[in-house]
Amino acid sequence: MKQSKPVQKVVIAGGGTAGWAVAAGLSKQLGHLIDIELVESAEIGTVGVGEATIPPMRSYHRIAGIDEQEFMRETSATFKLGILFKGWRDKQSEYIHSFGEVGKASTWLTHFHHLWLEARERGLAGPLDRYCLEATASWEHKFAFSERGGPNFAYHLDAGRYAQFLRGKCEARGVKRREGMIEQVELDPDDGFIRRLHLKDGSLVEGDFYIDCTGFKGLLIEGALKTGYDDWSHWLPTNRALAVQTRAVSDPVPYTVSTTRSAGWQWRIPLQHRVGNGMVYCSDYMDDDQAREELLANIEGEMLSEPRPIRYTTGARRKQWNKNCLALGLASGFLEPLESTSIYLVMIGISRFMQMFPFDGVTESAMEQYNSTCRLELERIRDFIILHYKVTNRSDTPFWRDRQQQAIPDTLAHRLKLFEETGQIEQAEADLFQISSWLQVMLGQGIEPRSHHHLARAMPDDKLRGMLDDLETNIARMVDSMPSHKAFIEKFCPSSSNNAHSA
Ligand SMILES: Cc1cc2nc3c(=O)[nH]c(=O)nc-3n(C[C@H](O)[C@H](O)[C@H](O)COP(=O)(O)OP(=O)(O)OC[C@H]3O[C@@H](n4cnc5c(N)ncnc54)[C@H](O)[C@@H]3O)c2cc1C
Repeated sequence: MKQSKPVQKVVIAGGGTAGWAVAAGLSKQLGHLIDIELVESAEIGTVGVGEATIPPMRSYHRIAGIDEQEFMRETSATFKLGILFKGWRDKQSEYIHSFGEVGKASTWLTHFHHLWLEARERGLAGPLDRYCLEATASWEHKFAFSERGGPNFAYHLDAGRYAQFLRGKCEARGVKRREGMIEQVELDPDDGFIRRLHLKDGSLVEGDFYIDCTGFKGLLIEGALKTGYDDWSHWLPTNRALAVQTRAVSDPVPYTVSTTRSAGWQWRIPLQHRVGNGMVYCSDYMDDDQAREELLANIEGEMLSEPRPIRYTTGARRKQWNKNCLALGLASGFLEPLESTSIYLVMIGISRFMQMFPFDGVTESAMEQYNSTCRLELERIRDFIILHYKVTNRSDTPFWRDRQQQAIPDTLAHRLKLFEETGQIEQAEADLFQISSWLQVMLGQGIEPRSHHHLARAMPDDKLRGMLDDLETNIARMVDSMPSHKAFIEKFCPSSSNNAHSA
């Protein structure tokens, strides 16, 4: 592929969370160097879900010039310290995957959990969560933060309001917005690059580079460029979701809840003004009517919307960047929302792209670098999600029995074996999820390592107990001094609108 012409204008196709989040980062960082135009169609609308996030969103907000308090007020956001997994190890089990580091910074030789495993064996250790600020605060529904001492947190937000909020910021920064439906994507017959977009009203939108944020269909990356899709549904077979909003009947908790159901799982995302609920399931095991029935039997509070069905195929575009087109958001592929990673992938994707922005034209080397970095990270996230399904004792329905028997990628099989046999946790450079995350989920799902580092064995009881007691006491003291999550929100970022219906 020869180098294309310099990139002076970027066209973003699609104005969902992905489109506007991309526009926010680009306009803040490169708005003085390039022109940006976004095309969206009110007639088509947005997917309307995607309300739980992970901590790197805070870094992206700094990159995109988003003020935290203003954003939280405008999107009725709450804080998120992790996810409570109910029924995943077995039907009665509960564990938290928090965003915190478990234990204190380890020595170069061994991680905290080896000490904890040893102490537990000797009857000296409490539950793992007591050694993690974020997990302890979650159980107690407490929240406060200081820039110095944590906790590590993310947000629950209203997806509809978020896109509107970002749009306001972007337009104020000079991003041009075009309302219209893209009907045709014209390619250059010489090099196959995208030349321009034809809208339904007959007008044309032209740029040097295109960002495809058109949702599942991937109008540019797939519809026009035929990039190809790697289907991962043999590893992650859920393929449908039903989403419904309800009026809040209790104070918002600082975590997402994920509860297993007979052929999938249900999410609960507490906002200030309402609760987002939904169920992810596999149509081979459950039809849409059964899913609706099971979801509605397990929600609390008045329904504010009719359950909305969504269909998807888990997987990823073979290339996220192809010619003069970058796919972000649902257009780039989809991993189910079990660990709330999709919005993160938009934000890390556009951040990486800005770092290697093709000012002088698209090159094969830049494209390859971007694609291989994204792919590696995506595969690691995929493995982390599969772990939740594979390592389970739930066997009361065909769906869960089949999960225990299903094949898994070699990369995940290796991680599981390593932990089971040695207590070691692989930490690869491309890993979004760090050791504490793998630890909480592997133990939470029921893996018990057969061994751990002998450095821990050499520690006398009093030293081991003293270290754990100090840690636990410090964390308990910090959590005691925190207000309730609700009280903190009321002071820090009360919603600018309490209308539950304005989603
Ligand atoms: C069930 C479910 C739950 C999810 N939960 C989470 C979560 O908790 N956390 C998380 O991080 N992510 C989650 N996600 C993913 C998240 O919703 C998406 O990553 C995010 O909303 C971005 O979507 P999008 O902007 O790519 O697509 P969409 O919201 O579908 O937006 C597509 C845009 O393209 C426009 N468009 C499409 N076709 C045309 C056309 N022909 N002409 C003009 N415009 C067009 C549409 O009008 C729209 O503006 C979830 C996804 C699903 C399906």
